[in-house]
Amino acid sequence: MKVTNTIGFFIDYSYAKQIESFFREYAIEVISPDKGARSSEIRYLIPITFSPEENMIEKMEEIRLRLLHQFPIIDEIGEEILFSYNDAEYEKAPFFNLYSSGNSAQANLASKYSVVKSHIFCEACGLKTKSLESNLVLDTSKLKNHYMINLDGMFWVVSEKMADLMARSNITGYHFKEVIHRGKPENSLPAYQLVVENPLPSLSSKKNYYYFVSEPKERCHVCDVKGKIIYPYLYDKTVIETHTDDLYLLNEWVSNGSFVYHPLFISQRFRKLLIEQGVTRDVRSIYDNNYGSKDWYMTPVFLDHY
Ligand SMILES: [Zn+2]
Repeated sequence: MKVTNTIGFFIDYSYAKQIESFFREYAIEVISPDKGARSSEIRYLIPITFSPEENMIEKMEEIRLRLLHQFPIIDEIGEEILFSYNDAEYEKAPFFNLYSSGNSAQANLASKYSVVKSHIFCEACGLKTKSLESNLVLDTSKLKNHYMINLDGMFWVVSEKMADLMARSNITGYHFKEVIHRGKPENSLPAYQLVVENPLPSLSSKKNYYYFVSEPKERCHVCDVKGKIIYPYLYDKTVIETHTDDLYLLNEWVSNGSFVYHPLFISQRFRKLLIEQGVTRDVRSIYDNNYGSKDWYMTPVFLDHY
């Protein structure tokens, strides 16, 4: 696994040579963009790679502070984190964190009609929990041509085709709750909320985290959930002896902006089945060309070490 933090900023073109030599001190080869016709401002996007065990916070703090001190950077320095995995990591993983079941708005809906209840999770940062007061309510015609869709970034709904596949393949660790149709009666389709209640154990003590050094205000020190970038999930090896179902939840809380939830995991067996059955293609990065509107993106879990 490789961790890449791509920093981005604008600066006047006249500093190009100095920026290049600044990054050479860190053994990072930077190629400056050409000066545009209209403005002398240029934009840098500089990928900085880290090993998963490294203290990225410390090094990024240093680079950021030195850059801001030495150069008239226009506005702020942005950051984007990307974790990339090799084939062996996909082969070995006992579980995968399911990130999405389609790279499109149709696969990621907001629940407009369901009755939900919110509670304050953290007084300090305002994060909230969200729970359903009754069955999910949805225009079930939205499931046409989909095996599974996500609602509100935390609830999963499957179609009849998916429910059949899971039953036939003896997938374990879930039950279904009926979804109530709202919309034209003639467009109603069978739809089921995928309810998973079993958590995986707590993450390994060797897990790593990151907090954007450019956005210290995003971080909440009280709940330690908001603003926290969790590295790919790391467990002690014993997890595979004690957890033999196909579906689990993360034991810890994760934030999707305003709310907290427990992300979903699927087993290696289930992932293989989905690919064999053509439910999804084998997508390994959100930047893959094959990450389409119906493809599932999932990331491998690690055992004992990254
Ligand atoms: Zn908080």
